[in-house]
Amino acid sequence: RFVAFEGGEGAGKTTQAELLAAALRARAIEVDVTREPGGTPGAEAIRTLLLDPPGDGWSLKAEALLFAAARADHVEHRILPALEAGKWVICDRFVDSSRAYQGGAGGLGDEAILGLHQFGSDGLRPDLTVLLDVDPDKLGQRLIERDGGKADAIGGRSSDYHQKVASRFSVLAQANPKSFAVVDGSGAADQVHDAVMQAIVSLLSG
Ligand code: C5P
Ligand code: MG
Repeated sequence: RFVAFEGGEGAGKTTQAELLAAALRARAIEVDVTREPGGTPGAEAIRTLLLDPPGDGWSLKAEALLFAAARADHVEHRILPALEAGKWVICDRFVDSSRAYQGGAGGLGDEAILGLHQFGSDGLRPDLTVLLDVDPDKLGQRLIERDGGKADAIGGRSSDYHQKVASRFSVLAQANPKSFAVVDGSGAADQVHDAVMQAIVSLLSG
């Protein structure tokens, strides 16, 4: 089983991925928790390039290619081997982030991103994508509370960009109700976790 968490920065993806992994391990399920961009040495090196670009930032197409390249390495070297070994893989972001950020907010479009994903990762899809839905203004507040909003972010993006990311995530979820679960991410972590467990329960039996 392959589950991805999606949502803006500060939505609680990392926390919820860890809470889900703990709940699955308590049921004696083997789990590999990982993240994008990253998850393998090569993809983590690409992450560093993305978050701390040499020069004044990547061109939009180069950015999309770097995310796709990181994902290709992650899929081949970590995600597929784990799934083949019978583990659950829980990933903090996957291709729907590229669709929302570079495709939606960046303006490259969905077809271009899906084309890169087809080439890079044979179009691998999660069994379920959990979208942690939090109002972008509230996300901004959480990030400032977390670390002044500095760490692990690609700089120079406007609030308009983040609004577009959020609305593209919603559009993707609405268009694909079978592969997405939209979970209200605005509450406390344990409440959100309960809702995540409701959303994945069908994967436990299937
Ligand atoms: O979620 P995380 O904080 O690990 O993401 C790192 C940075 O990469 C964030 O600034 C996020 O907005 C950005 N990102 C992006 N496009 C993606 C995935 C992440 O711009 N496809
Ligand atoms: Mg995170």
